[in-house]
Amino acid sequence: MQPIFVYVVKQISTYEIKHCELDNGVHQFDFQVDGSLFVAYGNQEINNANLRVSVELVKKTQELSLLLQGKGEIELQCDRCLDFFSHNIDANHEVSIHFAEETNFDTDEDYVYLSRSEETLNLSYFIYEMLMLSLPIRRVHPENENGETKCNPEVVKYISGESFITELVW
Ligand SMILES: [Zn+2]
Repeated sequence: MQPIFVYVVKQISTYEIKHCELDNGVHQFDFQVDGSLFVAYGNQEINNANLRVSVELVKKTQELSLLLQGKGEIELQCDRCLDFFSHNIDANHEVSIHFAEETNFDTDEDYVYLSRSEETLNLSYFIYEMLMLSLPIRRVHPENENGETKCNPEVVKYISGESFITELVW
């Protein structure tokens, strides 16, 4: 049985690289990422994003090395006031891909496998992985320069104190 992400990845052709047409050496690619990436991965928490992902690909005979850099914004829902806010992203991710008999991106090793028969490499899985790993566990509005919360003032006024909010949420 194929891993689930392979099925998903095939839906988003925007992030494909025809690696078989590349010469050995260094290559540069740029991608624009929006909310559709998160939708394609079934992520219901993120609908909007605006990011630029640059990829440096080093092609060798037996492997591909990728350095991904993502910059931009992802819209998150605040755990405290439930309004949406824009979260700045500045993320890096390295991926080492070895050519093999079968594609397997979900390994426990430091590298993943790409089938020699695949002429294209779809980067959406790696971009998604990089962005998800860069997100904070606790998602709340950032503070302003005076150290005050930027949460919805109506909600903050209505629910005073963090413990009460926790009770409301749970
Ligand atoms: Zn908030």
